[in-house]
Amino acid sequence: MSRLIESLAARTDRMRSSEIRDILKSITEDVITFAGGMPDPNTFPSDEELNEIFEFIRSVKSKAFQYGITEGLPELREALAKFMSKFGIKASWEEIIVTSGSQQAIEITGRIFIDQRNIIVVELPTYLAAVQAYNIYKPIYVGVPMDDEGMKTDILEEELKRQINLGRKPKLIYTIPTCQNPTGISMSMDRRKHLLEIASKYDLYIVEDDPYGYITFTDKEYRRLKAMDSEGRVIYISTFSKIFAPGIRVGWAVAAKEVIKYMGLAKQALDICGAYLSHYIAYYAINSGMIERRIPMIKRTYKEKRDVMLKALEDYMPPNIEWTRPIGGMFIFLWLPEFINTKTLLFRTLYHYKVAYVPGRSFFVDGSGWNTIRLSFSYPPKDKITEGIRRLSLAIKEAMAIGMKKFKSYKLMS
Ligand SMILES: *Cc1c(COP(=O)(O)O)cnc(C)c1O
Repeated sequence: MSRLIESLAARTDRMRSSEIRDILKSITEDVITFAGGMPDPNTFPSDEELNEIFEFIRSVKSKAFQYGITEGLPELREALAKFMSKFGIKASWEEIIVTSGSQQAIEITGRIFIDQRNIIVVELPTYLAAVQAYNIYKPIYVGVPMDDEGMKTDILEEELKRQINLGRKPKLIYTIPTCQNPTGISMSMDRRKHLLEIASKYDLYIVEDDPYGYITFTDKEYRRLKAMDSEGRVIYISTFSKIFAPGIRVGWAVAAKEVIKYMGLAKQALDICGAYLSHYIAYYAINSGMIERRIPMIKRTYKEKRDVMLKALEDYMPPNIEWTRPIGGMFIFLWLPEFINTKTLLFRTLYHYKVAYVPGRSFFVDGSGWNTIRLSFSYPPKDKITEGIRRLSLAIKEAMAIGMKKFKSYKLMS
């Protein structure tokens, strides 16, 4: 073992297992889990749809099993360009690269943009898997707090000025503007515009991670940053994982041609080419209209579950607990009183009350968020959501009572 440690590259020191993954491992059958951001399996393709898809695969046969182009199946890129034009994003197929899930696209943006000690801006809190991908390139994170309109862009600008004064180079803003993971918050239109102005003023690229923009439950318009990007600063990233199935591992990025060129070069070293079989499946699903036919069903499924979770929170949670009210996606975020450590609470919740969640702390790059919780409403059935929130509220009430007692005895002593 010690021989291995001596041989490993120093960068392995920055490779950490995600806390979520570790929690998921210890979950038994009798636990109601709000931990993983797993899609509801009922939203996956039906038997008939699978027959259609595999009939198509049979018709293209060897093409689906051969090596392909690094940037992805051209027909799929054409189909994605057409699909996204309905959501305000204009791109030619050459401005699109297909990746192994959006995770690979996120990793590649780190690979081509980040030098050691560059400044990377993220939301507080942000998506853990993006931080894991970027860590290897040793950036300095600047976390910008959020409110119910998303990232506070005036604070962002102050921070950028401060970092530039310190002689550091801000490079990239990583943001999930719509139904953010972990908070469920969506950035207001004013903030979106301000963010683009700031990126232009300080010459920054923006990584717009948008897995949930296609599954919102409101008619209110949240235009994608990419749709408003007149300077080619936005690298738009999305995925089939939440609108079709994560198991095919197909995501994509849209960016200016010169950015796509470097993303393609990076990708050559990673996998030569993507899984063409998956590209053909994704191509069929999107080109035949299957995806667009399925989206209303997926929205309905998650909207019902969100409503059930919000109602249960309303019914069961004690006062002094706050939570977000997402307009789509899969997550609700909770703030408990500051004296409660949600990581410690999880052991009691998991083993005694049989409910799992993710302690929010790991989503905060500044080490804050000890009193926060991420709940995912996408996976459990509705009756389990209600029961799980009831049990969670009992655990929280218990922790609050213990915390108050400690606080009082502390006051008596001092
Ligand atoms: C689910 C999710 C993704 C999707 O990742 P894939 O690699 O495409 O499965 C990306 N970003 C965020 C913020 C997510 O929540």
